[in-house]
Amino acid sequence: MTHCDSFLPHVSVCCCRDSNVSDFFLNLLVIVVDVNPIWWGQQAQREPEFTLSKCLDGVMVMGNSHMALTRTNKLAVIASHCQDSHFLYPSKSLGGGGGAAEDTSSSRDGKYELLAVANSAIAEEIRNVLSKTEVRGNSTDTLLAGSLAKALCCILTIYSVCCHPELISCLGQVIKAAEDCALQYMNFMNVIFAAQKQNILIDACVLDSDSGLLQQACDITGGLYLKIPQKLALTQYLLWVFLPDSEQRSQLVLPPPAHVDYRAACFCHRNLIEIGYVCSVCLSIFCNFSPICTTCETAFKIQLPQMVKPKKKKLKMPA
Ligand SMILES: [Zn+2]
Ligand SMILES: [Zn+2]
Repeated sequence: MTHCDSFLPHVSVCCCRDSNVSDFFLNLLVIVVDVNPIWWGQQAQREPEFTLSKCLDGVMVMGNSHMALTRTNKLAVIASHCQDSHFLYPSKSLGGGGGAAEDTSSSRDGKYELLAVANSAIAEEIRNVLSKTEVRGNSTDTLLAGSLAKALCCILTIYSVCCHPELISCLGQVIKAAEDCALQYMNFMNVIFAAQKQNILIDACVLDSDSGLLQQACDITGGLYLKIPQKLALTQYLLWVFLPDSEQRSQLVLPPPAHVDYRAACFCHRNLIEIGYVCSVCLSIFCNFSPICTTCETAFKIQLPQMVKPKKKKLKMPA
């Protein structure tokens, strides 16, 4: 009996139709790993004991544990690079998620074949990604919004090819290294709202500086946000905090929720601002007043006050 065994980038028709429905519950985990070579290069100089390969070891352990939990659990791993994102698993070169064409020599030691195949696929693909992709121009930000969009498309494809979408549970998980990029604010928020609409949780495991965008993403979708205090313990945090599903999490004592930075980026300079001007027609946000909205071209006729009024002091109530 087979289920929806293969999916993006090798989508096939759903086969759960023929199986016993009560036995079927597909649990898809999509892990997005930040492989920004510039950040990881600097990191290797700061802390030579925690490198990208250590981080990927953690990702493999997490992915293996997820797949080992239940036979119907599925995994996808996406690498988020500077200008693009790549599927590390399932990879095109290996012919699909757990297909038969792989070199199975690594499973001779008695290891579960599926896990051995997944690990060698991830290792092979990350080598390809890092050797073939060069950083062009001066854009050194991780394309996180694009990778999340890819993850979401992967999840939605599963929903669309499966005849029992109600029996699918999906989780997006981001392992974030480099700084936030305010330029991606719009695209990022669009992805997050799309995920919220589909009831897809987004978890974030942040290695370095806090990410306002991911804090909002986790808060909006109901996922977990954690900036790990010790990078070397990444694997332990992944297994302890992020591996349990949302039902099990309610029974665990997890790290306290993070304070969410709800600042928005202005559409004119992509700066994060606390107070700004909002177009009453299209809800675009600007840091400076402009008589014509640059997004929807609405002209505002109101007169702008010359000075910001000082806050009125509260009158003291007579005792
Ligand atoms: Zn601005
Ligand atoms: Zn507008």
